[in-house]
Amino acid sequence: MFSFSRIFKYIWLFIKPYKTAFFSLFFLALGRILFSGILTGYLYKNIIDTLNNTLISIQDRYHLALLFVIPMAVAFVISMFMTRYMEWVNFRYLSKVLKNIYDYSFQRLMTHSYGFYNNTFAGSLVAKVKRLVKSFETVNNIMVNTFWSIILMVISSTVALYFQSKTLALYFLVWCIFYSIITLFFVKQKIKIDMQRAEADSRMTGVLADSITNISNIKVFSAFTKEFYAFKEVSTFLKDRRYAAWKFSLNRHALQAFLMTSFHIFILMTMISLWSRGEITVGVFVMAYVYFIGIIDRIWDLSSGLTNFMEALTDAQEMVDIFEQNIEVKDLVVPENSRMKEGVIEFKNVSFGYIEEVDVLSNFNLKIEKGEKIGLVGHSGSGKSTITKLLLRFTDVNSGEILIDGQNISNVTQDDLRRAISYVPQESILFHRSIKENIGYSKDGATDEEIIEAAKKAHAHNFIESMSHGYDSLVGERGIKLSGGERQRVAIARAMLKPAPILVLDEATSSLDSVSEAFIQDAFNELMKNKTTIVIAHRLSTIQKMDRIIVLDKGKIVEEGNHKELLEKNGFYANLWNRQTGGFLEE
Ligand code: ADP
Ligand code: MG
Repeated sequence: MFSFSRIFKYIWLFIKPYKTAFFSLFFLALGRILFSGILTGYLYKNIIDTLNNTLISIQDRYHLALLFVIPMAVAFVISMFMTRYMEWVNFRYLSKVLKNIYDYSFQRLMTHSYGFYNNTFAGSLVAKVKRLVKSFETVNNIMVNTFWSIILMVISSTVALYFQSKTLALYFLVWCIFYSIITLFFVKQKIKIDMQRAEADSRMTGVLADSITNISNIKVFSAFTKEFYAFKEVSTFLKDRRYAAWKFSLNRHALQAFLMTSFHIFILMTMISLWSRGEITVGVFVMAYVYFIGIIDRIWDLSSGLTNFMEALTDAQEMVDIFEQNIEVKDLVVPENSRMKEGVIEFKNVSFGYIEEVDVLSNFNLKIEKGEKIGLVGHSGSGKSTITKLLLRFTDVNSGEILIDGQNISNVTQDDLRRAISYVPQESILFHRSIKENIGYSKDGATDEEIIEAAKKAHAHNFIESMSHGYDSLVGERGIKLSGGERQRVAIARAMLKPAPILVLDEATSSLDSVSEAFIQDAFNELMKNKTTIVIAHRLSTIQKMDRIIVLDKGKIVEEGNHKELLEKNGFYANLWNRQTGGFLEE
């Protein structure tokens, strides 16, 4: 829902640290208008009335009129300086605020949990952050340059005119109010149209980003035509929304122009008639006209200012929604100190489902002793990765609890929890940074020697050395420049470097050929020493030597025991094993 107060809460949050600069903008604007608009209009009046004054000689009129030019020049100069100073104050404070908005958005986005990112396109998030920054700039500039200037201009012109002609002042004020109300009415309607436009824009950005991310899929499946068709659907939707918004503005401009022209004609006729009755002098005529032109100039911007303002607010709204969205996985306000040193893991009556109704795990129980090596097997979709995600608290359990060393994982901070676990996920994504940075990421202040050591253990050293820039080579967005196996080895090296009592490998070697895997296996054995380990693997030979193998089916443990025991049972595991060793690949 669109709500001013919610959005302004954030706008104020960003302005607050610089409120002195912000409010001084309003004072500077006041000074500028008094000097440039109001005072000069009044001096015009004096010059013209002096020139028209038939009671004194032409010579005297000449000198007197010239005298008024001096304050006029001073007013121009002062207002010029004020304008420049105002711009400087504005830019200086604005550049700081915009930076803070980026920082704030970054920080807020990073605290959102795993589930949030599953449901949001990265591309549209980037666009939303950029739009928020742009919105703030727009809102700020419109508040200071348009709204405030119009209010000041209307009030000060009316007051100045009041002393010359009450009738003119009254007409002036009434018309300004009438015009503003009409404008407001239009703007209210436009909010809805603008919301739709913003939504269409986000959708287009999302599809564009998704297609770019999936470029290889599109090429492999020759899906360009299909994708382009889908893209054209969203771009057409955006076109329609945009056209609707512009058409609306067109109608509004027509009405505005009509209101202005009629008032223009009306005020001219009124002034001529007032003059003919001797109620105003030619000087007042000119002064009122100068004010009128000044106001017309600004008030025309009122409606576009208001609509841009609303447009900016609707843009900002999208990001505010994200700021206010519940963070699914939260740290306790007063978290416990972590006591997770040994690595005893216990799942107690854990139930969990990504969507309500459908439980992936229900009443799941599993205890893993300190230093125990566990292999998790089961068909794809049986919930293996889910178990690791719950352990890492990417998402919270629906009921039950998970303990590490007797401590509920939701009682410590997520940082503390994850510090205790070294994790290699099913799909490793790397930063678009050097290999060295990617490996060293798991340990602050890791030395080059440590990084190379870890890479050697993960059998990554050789391929890294053969790259053009060795350890300084960049890996491309998400690590795209590496093969799946290379990426996985980098991820393994990264995990190896991390000093944690628990090790979780989720199909960490799935992209490796059997030979490389056999090599790494030695390193893993080394790595697993003294660590509680959970290994998920399709290739059963990988987990053959584990202390205990848990066989999972539809979120339930159907068998457990070591390799030998399970083969003797001749059940689920034995069946899988026979199929794999019997020359079948898997499942
Ligand atoms: P495994 O790792 O054993 O192959 P997962 O634990 O990844 O299986 O998945 C278990 C079930 O949960 C599957 O049915 C899968 O479709 C579902 N699932 C996994 N991740 C999500 C998610 N982010 N949102 C919704 N459902 C999910
Ligand atoms: Mg999985």
